[in-house]
Amino acid sequence: MRYIEPHGHMVSRTTDDYIDMVTAGCAAVCEPAFWAGFDRSSPQGFFDYFCQLTEHEPKRAAKFGLPHYTWLCINPKESEDVNLAEEVVDLIPQFLDKPNVLGIGEIGLNKNSRNEMKVLEMHADLAARQDQLILVHTPHLEDKLKGTKLIIDVLKADKRIKPERCIIDHVEEHTIGLVLDAGFWAGMTLYPESKCTAARAIDMIECYGGERVWMNSACDWGVSVPLAVPYAALEARRRGYNSERIDQLVFKNPAQFMSQSSKFKVPVA
Ligand SMILES: [Zn+2]
Repeated sequence: MRYIEPHGHMVSRTTDDYIDMVTAGCAAVCEPAFWAGFDRSSPQGFFDYFCQLTEHEPKRAAKFGLPHYTWLCINPKESEDVNLAEEVVDLIPQFLDKPNVLGIGEIGLNKNSRNEMKVLEMHADLAARQDQLILVHTPHLEDKLKGTKLIIDVLKADKRIKPERCIIDHVEEHTIGLVLDAGFWAGMTLYPESKCTAARAIDMIECYGGERVWMNSACDWGVSVPLAVPYAALEARRRGYNSERIDQLVFKNPAQFMSQSSKFKVPVA
């Protein structure tokens, strides 16, 4: 089996995780910029992180034969300080020409605050001006439905942004329909404790179809499973999906979305 991990926070993972992923068939990994688990104290902290994502981590992944791509932003959890966010957003353009940068992400909302909305709009504007793909984080639990609607409104309001070039991640049963109906791609994050299990993800695929969707593990510094995507493939196989259908979900779909960036090279098995 081959698969793409379209949303993995690899700077948080060990080399053993890289070995396990490659052994399970991972053919490429894509890493959105994320909260570090604590707030960075200055734009310089983000500059260093962007260097890590565009220079160091691709080299670390390459040691295991794994192509590594990334997305840049200041994440919604640190977007409350709009002045800091402005300084960080100004840092991003100098990194956009790096060979592994696919776009702007994971942007979005965390608590659906006014300041987060402002910073979301700043990122959307940057992506539109620079013709970048967009990867969106949606809020947790009770904030998810409202936040997803707000995000869709912001992206739809900017006529330069094409929905088919945006993926809205962490969808659940009550948000996936909204996202797909609005023309966006939908990402399902497979977490052992929150977000979505493999069984729920395959249920959603059965209800909404297998187009414009991908599954990811997120595999960050919290409780998460780097092999969640191949485990979901196993769940699909249990339900009688053949190899071709599984390949479409875990390899061809993410490859199709990311190939909208000329920098993404579809891995050759
Ligand atoms: Zn993430």
